Amino acid sequence: MPKRLRRCKECGEYTLQRDRCPHCGGEVEVPHPPRFSPEDPYGKYRRRLKKKVWIKKFGPPPRGEGE
Ligand SMILES: [Zn+2]
Repeated sequence: MPKRLRRCKECGEYTLQRDRCPHCGGEVEVPHPPRFSPEDPYGKYRRRLKKKVWIKKFGPPPRGEGE
């Protein structure tokens, strides 16, 4: 993982500054939330659904793949 970039909420510029944007002084935020974020409580269901659709189309995945 590279250094944690932040992104300005105001102008959209990326910066390594933690508190404020060096370009416009606006607030910065971490642009990409962690992959398994509690902000995405339905990800589990989405992935399950995707798998179901896959199996319907192509049959069960080969051994050793998937979970
Ligand atoms: Zn800015």
